[in-house]
Amino acid sequence: MRLAASISLTALALAACATTAAPTPPAAVVEVPAAATPAAPALTPEGAREFVAAAEKDLEGVSLIGSRAAWVNATYITDDTDMLNRYFGTIATEKGVKYATEAAKWLQVPGLDPDTVRKLNLLRGGLTLAAPTTPGAAAELNDITTRLQSAYGKGRAKHNGKVITGEDAEALMGTLRDPRQLAEVWQTWHETTGRPMKPDYTRMVEIANAGAKELGYADTGAMWRSQYDMSPEQFSAMYDRLLGELDPLYKQLHCYVRTKLNQKYGSAIQPATGPIRADLLGNMWAQEWGNVYDIAAPKGTGDIGYDIGDLLKKKGYTPVDMVKTGERFYTSLGFPALPETFWQRSQIVRPRDRDVICHASAWDVDFKDDLRIKMCTKVNSDDFVTIHHELGHNFYQRAYNQQPFLYQNGANGGFHEAIGDFIALSVTPEYLVQIGLLDRSKVPSADKDIGLLLRQAMDKVAFMPFAYIVDKWRYGVFDGSTPPAKYNQAWVDLKQQYQGVVPPVPRSEADFDPGAKFHIPGNTTYERYFFARVLQFQFYKAACDMAGWKGPLHRCSFYGNKEVGRRLNAMLAMGASHPWPDALEAFTGTREISGKPMLEYFAPLQAWLQQQNQGKQCGW
Ligand SMILES: [Zn+2]
Repeated sequence: MRLAASISLTALALAACATTAAPTPPAAVVEVPAAATPAAPALTPEGAREFVAAAEKDLEGVSLIGSRAAWVNATYITDDTDMLNRYFGTIATEKGVKYATEAAKWLQVPGLDPDTVRKLNLLRGGLTLAAPTTPGAAAELNDITTRLQSAYGKGRAKHNGKVITGEDAEALMGTLRDPRQLAEVWQTWHETTGRPMKPDYTRMVEIANAGAKELGYADTGAMWRSQYDMSPEQFSAMYDRLLGELDPLYKQLHCYVRTKLNQKYGSAIQPATGPIRADLLGNMWAQEWGNVYDIAAPKGTGDIGYDIGDLLKKKGYTPVDMVKTGERFYTSLGFPALPETFWQRSQIVRPRDRDVICHASAWDVDFKDDLRIKMCTKVNSDDFVTIHHELGHNFYQRAYNQQPFLYQNGANGGFHEAIGDFIALSVTPEYLVQIGLLDRSKVPSADKDIGLLLRQAMDKVAFMPFAYIVDKWRYGVFDGSTPPAKYNQAWVDLKQQYQGVVPPVPRSEADFDPGAKFHIPGNTTYERYFFARVLQFQFYKAACDMAGWKGPLHRCSFYGNKEVGRRLNAMLAMGASHPWPDALEAFTGTREISGKPMLEYFAPLQAWLQQQNQGKQCGW
């Protein structure tokens, strides 16, 4: 839900965590108002500074009240709180667009200082979609995006001929093992949900591109890429390089899983060579494959011998105890404890008597110290890891609370999620021993590592080419290299080229398969998830090096290491005030984002996969 719009109040107030789930997003569209603003300061560098200062103050003001409305709405859903939240959301949206348009003008002024340029660019490029000033365009764009989102929300599929919701369809893709039923759910979801969206999506691209051009961008995709402190070309080169680094590991994983699917389903369903049938991978979009770990698990090493949920229950942990334990991870690194209000105001368990949004998220309601999490915590392994992740957002938010409002954000779109994920990676057996949950004699032996790593890779590594293509497809759509007559073929081609997967049934241009993925009709950018996956391993490796860890990377714990905490804080405290390579350097010592730490983490698995794949014709 953390939209690219750094000026969206909801985006600033909370960090939600969803690559697959479909939370209700705040309005993604921003309208360019036709009316000019009165009493603009003179078009000088000094005038620009005044404009930025006034905009920042105004946005902070509306965010301070808007974030409360959003919190109350998320933790007490009624018609009234819906309306309150929409009310402030609309105000923020209108202000966002007004300031984006004005910032584009101010950027033309010669002699601006770097800080003012940075803030103007944040204001100008922070929108997800911009409408042009053409009369009626803003309203039309708003109508279209609302229709697209609600079409996704109302999307249905069929299972054994019976109509089911999108949520059920998604879950069934993970549990069904009958190829005929899988194909039915896949096809009906893609066709019922995606197909009708194509005319609207096509029109949306036209309008949004016109809006981006008015703000001075080549197209909407270029506007999105502009938030990375580099040119769109440099961005694409970085994006391609990272995928290339991970490609050998992905190919080995693909090869191994294909063999297992071939053994389970036979060559008529899944041939031993070529691409994988997309619906057999346990996920509607073949984006994460952990749900079919049972099919891929090597014999004997799949069971690691303990379950964190069982350990917690045995020690009598409550959900609050779990959060206290997560907090202790951060205080052990030297971060100050969470404020008393965190414990008074957070929603840690599901309230008994009202509707709430349970999807885990972390909030900073006053942009200073009013940190909160919102979860419906259960005493189990997943939630224990999620707590460590969510608190990462909170500690990040507090670390940069001295920054001006516009800089109170992650260093780039990937950083916020990467921090939480990096700490979550640290929930290793060694850490569980250190906090007294696991007896040292119960630490699983090294021969269990392959199972652990394979399970993780089926989610984290399998995800990379998928995450890459979601925006790759949109960049082509927005820059015109993929015309509407090729929308679907381009999607199918990208999935085959990078993921090595094919649809279970023939597709045509009557279809609009991209629309069957939430983030496309929802207009949520995806590159942040790609970078977050890469960065989390880079952060993890840096922390383990600082802590002097000597064993295999995936076993490392840096719990209690104050030097790690000091360096981490140096990065977090920068917020978005500097180009992101500066932030990266502050913690890791390098300015270059790299896939190598992720490869090192999975190196034992990659070696094992190569053995398993010997004699196989890998690739597709
Ligand atoms: Zn998150």
